[in-house]
Amino acid sequence: MNGYLDYNATTPLCQAAAEAWQAASADHWHNASSLYREGAAVNRLLEEAQMELADFLGAEEPDRVIFNSGATEANNAVLTHFARTHSGKVAISAVEHPSVAESARGLLGDRVDELPVSREGVLDLDRLRNYLEREQDVALVSLMAANNECGVIQLWREALALCQEFEVPFHCDAAQWIGKLPSEGLGDCDYVTGSAHKFGGPKGTGFLLIPEDLDRFRSLLGGPQQERRRAGTENYPAVAGMMAAWRSLEPRLSECRRLGEEHRSWAESTLEQRLPGIQFVGAGAERLWNTTMFIVPAHDNRRWLTRLNRRGIAVSTGSACSSGRENPSRVLQATGYDFSSMGRTIRVSAGWDTTMEDWQALVEALVDVHAELEERH
Ligand code: PMP
Repeated sequence: MNGYLDYNATTPLCQAAAEAWQAASADHWHNASSLYREGAAVNRLLEEAQMELADFLGAEEPDRVIFNSGATEANNAVLTHFARTHSGKVAISAVEHPSVAESARGLLGDRVDELPVSREGVLDLDRLRNYLEREQDVALVSLMAANNECGVIQLWREALALCQEFEVPFHCDAAQWIGKLPSEGLGDCDYVTGSAHKFGGPKGTGFLLIPEDLDRFRSLLGGPQQERRRAGTENYPAVAGMMAAWRSLEPRLSECRRLGEEHRSWAESTLEQRLPGIQFVGAGAERLWNTTMFIVPAHDNRRWLTRLNRRGIAVSTGSACSSGRENPSRVLQATGYDFSSMGRTIRVSAGWDTTMEDWQALVEALVDVHAELEERH
């Protein structure tokens, strides 16, 4: 049994990524800016990685790709760019990850508008249209592709089309989408964020896609790397690992989705029978095939987590970035759940090789922990 069911927090390095990282570290560890042959070779490999990445996203211009340390950096970079170079408003959804929501608030203050979501956690497109019609000076709309907590999928393609109609740039945080659903089409967005460790790649590696010919884009300042758009020596071995992980997953996605949805649907209907009163968050909307977030009928979620962990199961209380602190779930806040429900939330996020037996073990453990907690109550 594999009891690790917290893949939305992070994933283990997959074999393809480990091999690619190791090979690149052995053969192509040189500085891509160096003028000798070995440096030029790394530079060329980085360009090839840009081409492959752009191709995965369906973007035509590889030099739109900037490699960086991951989604937090990418999201901060986008918002910093808009804070520095635009005076208009930035609209984000109420369920964005803190790396969008906090950086937007910190950098743009009252220039940020938070657009509400439905009870299922989905941004209402009519609201977005009304907003774009009403507000004359919108510099950017930022909407995640899929939510890290409950897995709800946002209508980012439709939101992008609306933004194009109003000629407003559109940023999509695709950290939870990439590696779980096909990436083709994301390249139509003006800005796209991705993080390698969410799909079997190395931690501390990711990318940002920016519009073509955006010469004045600056994230980290310093050396001339990546056309001055992100200073710092490129981490080619990590980029090689990220691309290998991505490459190995893309052909598996439809099968993983089919199986994942089947397993989750079995688990949710079994839990509904065996833990009466359980509520599934966002279950009426389209969700990532690997994620289920639910509110257990009783007892603090941290008590559940400790007892599940004793049974070999690792799950989360919601956003991994919020758990362990007093931050209640952003999704539950935005979707109108009460405070008591927030303390009873559990998030399960499966991986590409999670089996029916793993889901069965989870269900048995949940039923068992419930009985134990009730007995002690
Ligand atoms: N955006 C989303 C939607 C995420 O799920 C995460 C990770 N929880 C991030 C951004 C931040 O990613 P990282 O920690 O790799 O910077």
